[in-house]
Order: sequence, then C-alpha cells, then structure tokens
Amino acid sequence: MSIYDDWGLEPIINASGAVTRLGGAPMPEAVLEAFCAAARESVPLDELQAVASRALAEATGAEAGLVTSGAAAALTLGTAAILTGYDLGRMERLPCCDGFPHELVVAREQRNGYDHAVRAAGARLVEVGFNEIVAGAGVRRTEAWEYEAAIGPQTAGIFYVYDPGSRPPLAELVARAHARGLPVLVDAAGELPPRSNLRALVATGADLVAFSGGKAIRGPQATGILCGRRDLVGAAAVQMLDLDDHYELWEPPPELIDKHRLGGIPRHGIGRALKVSKEQIVALLTALRLFVSGAYDDALPAQRRRLEQIAAALEGLPVRWRVITLADGQSLPLLEVALDEHLNDERTAVLGRRLREELTPR
Ligand SMILES: *Cc1c(COP(=O)(O)O)cnc(C)c1O
Repeated sequence: MSIYDDWGLEPIINASGAVTRLGGAPMPEAVLEAFCAAARESVPLDELQAVASRALAEATGAEAGLVTSGAAAALTLGTAAILTGYDLGRMERLPCCDGFPHELVVAREQRNGYDHAVRAAGARLVEVGFNEIVAGAGVRRTEAWEYEAAIGPQTAGIFYVYDPGSRPPLAELVARAHARGLPVLVDAAGELPPRSNLRALVATGADLVAFSGGKAIRGPQATGILCGRRDLVGAAAVQMLDLDDHYELWEPPPELIDKHRLGGIPRHGIGRALKVSKEQIVALLTALRLFVSGAYDDALPAQRRRLEQIAAALEGLPVRWRVITLADGQSLPLLEVALDEHLNDERTAVLGRRLREELTPR
C-alpha cells in the first residue's frame, strides 16, 4: 500500500535514477528520519544556514556554502551574488540590471536549458567560441583567449558548465578570469560522483560552484549546494533568506553574512522564491555526510547483480547488444540495451510506451 494510492495515483518503478521528472533519487532512511526530526522543532534559518555553511566548507574546501532549493536555484543565487555583491541598491533592482555590469561570458558549446537559471537573475549571456565539432566544420573547442576578447565594461563574470571534457580546462579559465578581476560561476549539478569533484572544482579557484542535492547525494529532490567565496555566498544568502527584521536587532551569523558591509537590511530579494526549509537543510547535510563517507558504495554490487539478471533475461529477445555501464565503484551502474535494427522507430516507440505503462513489452 502506497501513500500515493490514497490520492488515486500509482507509484512507478523508477529505473532511470535521479531524474527530476520522476521525483529524483530515493532518500535513504537516515535522511528521511533527519527530515522528520528537523520538522518537529524550530530554529532560526540564518543560523541553520551558517551551520550548513561550515559543513559545506568542510566537504568542499570552499570558504562558505549555502543550501539552496536545487542546483538551478544555486545558479540563480550565484549569479545574483556576482551581479550585486553586497550592494543593497542592486539587490533591490534585480533582475533589472540597468546601470551596472551584468554580462556573463559563456562558451557557445556549453549553452543548455539550465542556463535560464542564470538569465533569471538578470544576467545577459555573451557567447564565445563555436560549436565546430558538432557542426562538423572544424576541430577546435572554445579557447581561453576567446573569453578574454569578449570582456568589456559590462562584463560581470564567467559562466562555465563543467564536465570532464569541458574546454578550456576550468583551472586555466579561472586563472585568466582572476587576472581580469572577474569571478567564475560553475554549473556542476550532475558531476557527482566522483566524490573527489566536491573538492576538485573548488580547488581550481572557481569562485562559486553549484551541485544538485537531489541527484547522487540523495538529499531531498528540491535541494542543491552553492559553495565558494565567503562574500559571494553571503550576498546569495541575504537575497534568499527572509529578512523581515530591524537592522538594530538583526544579528546574522558573521561567518555567513557580513552585516556591517551591508549598512541596512535588504528587503525580500530575488531568491525569496527559492527558499529552503529547515527540514531540507538538515536532510541534505545528513545525505551529504553519507555520500562523503562512501556509505552508498556498499549497495553497488547488489545493484549490479540485479542488472545482470535483467540482462540475462533479455536473451532471445530482439536485442542487438546490452551493456552495463558506469561500474566505477561510486556511480550507480546502468543497463543500456540496443534494440534490433529491424525494429523501426514506430515499434520502438510502442515498446517505450508500453514500458512506461508497465505492460509486458511484446
Ligand atoms: C540537473 C542539472 C541542473 C539542475 O539541478 P537541480 O538540482 O535539479 O536544480 C542544472 N544543470 C545541470 C547541468 C544539471 O544536470
């Protein structure tokens, strides 16, 4: 009996992992318990985020961190922080950026649907490089000089989407950006595991890095991590937290928010719609602790055996090949199946539909 039955909805067997569309990764029991326990009591959210900041700093090597409502929210908040710093007037005006630098330079080949989250803060993306390899019209990837050539009076920073094949290498780009006094914001939402990326991306000197909390970390689906420079994380925090308070009485945790650099309390910021609850913060920190300790790796051999059974059961069906991938000891293994070539698109669509409907594929 599922709770979804009460609402007339049948739960599915999620065989595709942490995809948002299907509700994300299942949370471990310890994470669920932490979520419920946190919900039963009240705490000041700014102080809880300061605790989170310390835990995230320890896990990533960054100066500070913030639990956000997803990696996309971390990108919006990180962009907001880069655009405003601790400037109250700019915070109030976002996403309108008239009168201050608001361009983020990005490689054309790194553009993707998630960068809407960067534009949502008010930034304008300025593309550099070409997608020559996909176009079949050349062999070169985006090069660091192309970013530098695009820097002008309206440039506020660089936006970089990390994966192991991203070019130019992040560390090289960070060095060039810093030489021009510009920060680098990195989307690394799905780049865990390997666990080493938690620290490796911050170690490049990148100013802000965004990770998903609801993918491999297995925290609540609507959580994420923004980690990096203390002043930028602080600027992101004040644009998300509820600050309905009086300046004289307001005592934000100094390691997260530098009250004296603000000179006033901003009103609800652009991140107010991206708020996270105390339950989400505590659950994400609990999940992160499990992820960092390698606790999830123990379940991988059993997962792999289950896939081997499924693969074996495909024997004799119109399947061209089947292969189990991602057996790196940290990632969940996946079974990839290629159907016989004689199954045309129409029949494969029928098969896909039947799998979704939980019918036996014929
Ligand atoms: C999943 C993903 C996001 C969004 O992450 P959420 O935590 O779901 O907000 C952003 N960028 C990339 C590259 C992703 O893979």
